[in-house]
Amino acid sequence: MSSKPSDSAIGTGPLGLTLVQLEDWCTSRELPRFRAKQIFHQFHQRLLGDFGAASDLPKALREDLQQSFGAIRQLEVVQQREAEDGTRKLALQAADGASFETVLIPMDGPFTQCLSSQSGCAMGCTFCYTGATGVGRNLTAAEILEQHYRGLELCEGNLRNLVFMGMGEPMQNLDEVLAACRLLMDPEGRAMSPTRLTVSTCGVVPGIKRLGREAPGVRLAVSLNAADDETRSKLMPINKRYNLETLKATLKAHPLSPRDRLTFEYIMLAGVNDRQTDARNLLRFLDGLRCKLNLIPFNEVPALPFKSSPMERIHWFQDLLKSKGIPVTIRASKGRDIMAACGQLARTSPR
Ligand code: SF4
Repeated sequence: MSSKPSDSAIGTGPLGLTLVQLEDWCTSRELPRFRAKQIFHQFHQRLLGDFGAASDLPKALREDLQQSFGAIRQLEVVQQREAEDGTRKLALQAADGASFETVLIPMDGPFTQCLSSQSGCAMGCTFCYTGATGVGRNLTAAEILEQHYRGLELCEGNLRNLVFMGMGEPMQNLDEVLAACRLLMDPEGRAMSPTRLTVSTCGVVPGIKRLGREAPGVRLAVSLNAADDETRSKLMPINKRYNLETLKATLKAHPLSPRDRLTFEYIMLAGVNDRQTDARNLLRFLDGLRCKLNLIPFNEVPALPFKSSPMERIHWFQDLLKSKGIPVTIRASKGRDIMAACGQLARTSPR
């Protein structure tokens, strides 16, 4: 993976700084280079919230860091909720008022954290409440990392995988998403394996190509939801720009390690994409792709005009695809009662 730092990482909070950028900062102050690693460890290993607690750094350096960068953590937790099934949701707000949510999902043991890449989303998928609440702004790498570190604390470190499936389209903010991934994988930081990171997209083809080039090993998920252009374009406007043929050609060329598969997400919408002909189209689309498929019961939101397929229908759909050799899982919907389930996240959290 390229180690090129994101230029915009500087000035958006110290958590987004690379080790190289911290070394440059130390050099500019005639400090020894080992200080850069020490500072980096405060961020990503000790998970400190402010420089005052960095007791292994000289007092003058702590003050200089505080003056140069401000606090290490720069987001305010505006709401914290826990669902009956143990799913936890944090609503966070930046100093400019941008707000976004992150969700921690218990997965029979360790949690998986669903990260937001944007505050709001401009992609306009018609089944998604996040999209319906409008466009916000891109999150910085620092804000993405802070989401994760606050999530880590909330589940006391019992967290395994990170998925960019929260608010926003990660490929529309790929500089910052990749910068965050590089920091998470840095051996001096969290040293995470790329296989614990998944970036999900609604089908932004240039972003998929770039992810494949610059972050091999990081997993890719595609929100598919229909396998004919007419239905998919109605559900997901991105399909008018990159249709299924273009998407499939791109996915066929996507680099996968021998044990890896592409993940497809398919939200089950009653009478829209759950018919026999939809299953047939899906089989045709998936043919030749090394993949697994997640069927997701639609999480109904009063503001949106869709109903979930009944569970019997979802099981029928699963059996049909399974009988043709596709690995299919029905993904249990978690956190519905606190609006933390797939497609339910929002900029201003309902209280
Ligand atoms: Fe945006 Fe994803 Fe919602 Fe589509 S499904 S509007 S890409 S957040």
